[in-house]
Amino acid sequence: MALFKFRRQESEVKWPTATPAGVEAFKEFYDAETFQETLDSFKRVCIGANVSRGGRYSEFFPYLKAAYKDVLPYKYKEIWKILEKKAKQELYERNTIGHIERNRVLVVGAGPVGLRTAIEAQLLGARVVLIERRPSFTRNNVLKLWKFLIEDLKSLGAKKFFGKFATGSINHINIRSLQLMLVKISLMLGVIIYAPCKFVRLAEPSLTEEGALIAGWQAIFEEKEKEAEGYVFDIIIGASGKNCVLDGFSRYSLDARLAIAITANFVNRWSSEEAAVEEIGGLSRQYDQDFFKEMHQETGVDLENIVYYKDEVHYFVMTAKKESLLKEGVLIEDLQDDHDDPNGRGRILRPSNVNREKLLDYAKKAALYATEKKSTKLPHTDWKMLPRGDKGEPDCCIFDFTNLYAARVAARVTVRKGQPLLGAIVGDSLLEPFWPEG
Ligand SMILES: Cc1cc2nc3c(=O)[nH]c(=O)nc-3n(C[C@H](O)[C@H](O)[C@H](O)COP(=O)(O)OP(=O)(O)OC[C@H]3O[C@@H](n4cnc5c(N)ncnc54)[C@H](O)[C@@H]3O)c2cc1C
Repeated sequence: MALFKFRRQESEVKWPTATPAGVEAFKEFYDAETFQETLDSFKRVCIGANVSRGGRYSEFFPYLKAAYKDVLPYKYKEIWKILEKKAKQELYERNTIGHIERNRVLVVGAGPVGLRTAIEAQLLGARVVLIERRPSFTRNNVLKLWKFLIEDLKSLGAKKFFGKFATGSINHINIRSLQLMLVKISLMLGVIIYAPCKFVRLAEPSLTEEGALIAGWQAIFEEKEKEAEGYVFDIIIGASGKNCVLDGFSRYSLDARLAIAITANFVNRWSSEEAAVEEIGGLSRQYDQDFFKEMHQETGVDLENIVYYKDEVHYFVMTAKKESLLKEGVLIEDLQDDHDDPNGRGRILRPSNVNREKLLDYAKKAALYATEKKSTKLPHTDWKMLPRGDKGEPDCCIFDFTNLYAARVAARVTVRKGQPLLGAIVGDSLLEPFWPEG
């Protein structure tokens, strides 16, 4: 006997076509290169379609799509199909798993993990608001992506928003581009994003002026950044990076030996000379002793490992030996950790103990030597500038990157006045990893 599985026929929603101004806004949104441009143009995309600024997936995406699907040029059409296909995956059960009244989510932080979490909650059918304290994305540093992550991001349309994504054997992306593409995906699916908007603390369930109990929890945001005020939610996701903003999630340190990392970002002008320089996927002293020994002898730079990725920038990350940093004058004094002070680890790396000029020289020497020995010398070392101060600042950092932490709990439920709140932490708030392991 044949078994037939009947599926409810899904009918396309009917909705008026978007205005010409909306179509122009969508093109701007799709190609936007900054966080603010993305947020601003998307507001106009919603106005052009006569829909509110976001909402649960099933109450938002089909209407936005109906308004735009017939009026956008070809280049902008594919992304709708990709997102719809993703949303229709069985796992999301027609985007209704979270589709009950008490599934309103607040995500704190638009880092890669907060954004990806917001997308997942949205696909499940929850109503999601995400807040980010920074007005712009500036991180040039490059993340190595696991294979499954590349597939996951492709299934969300990553290549549409960032054409170079995972081309050939490339398995990395700069943090800024990753954030930007995830913001675009989130917005199209219905996540509401407020930025700049800084979370300060939770506010327990309260009474309205008329004396009725507000069903849910609220948050307090920093003065003058109150766009999200009034949002009532039942779930809060702390995705604020290594400084966890939610109470009740204490962490323990995995107490690894201090390891000093340096990141350096040089401008990539995409010239043929730059194209000839090959990436260095990861060299470590253990396996390439001669290379590191010779680098030390010839330049004074003494490293444990080095990685070079060619991205929007020429990105280098390396672990340097403390003794060579002191000898080369990058570190001024050999300050010991103060174990009685909770912030006493890594005192030696405090800005007052770092000679910036010497640090820039040190990083340049490492980049030039490594590229020359492994393929061809990087043709220039013009710094990518971070938008700091009047002139900007070379994007080069030194820090302790074995500061490993793990949270004792990942989620907890709090009930006040009969109102439950599920709190969870994700990303670096949950577990601060050792970077080279991805
Ligand atoms: C400067 C920097 C450079 C890095 N370089 C590298 C690298 O070279 N290689 C590598 O593998 N990893 C690097 N990392 C680590 C990597 O970026 C993180 O592991 C990864 O981004 C974790 O993502 P996340 O979403 O958990 O947190 P994050 O990316 O840290 O994002 C947290 C977000 O929350 C926001 N936020 C914080 N507090 C609040 C608040 N109160 N209200 C609202 N928003 C808030 C922050 O502005 C930020 O946008 C770097 C991290 C930083 C901060």
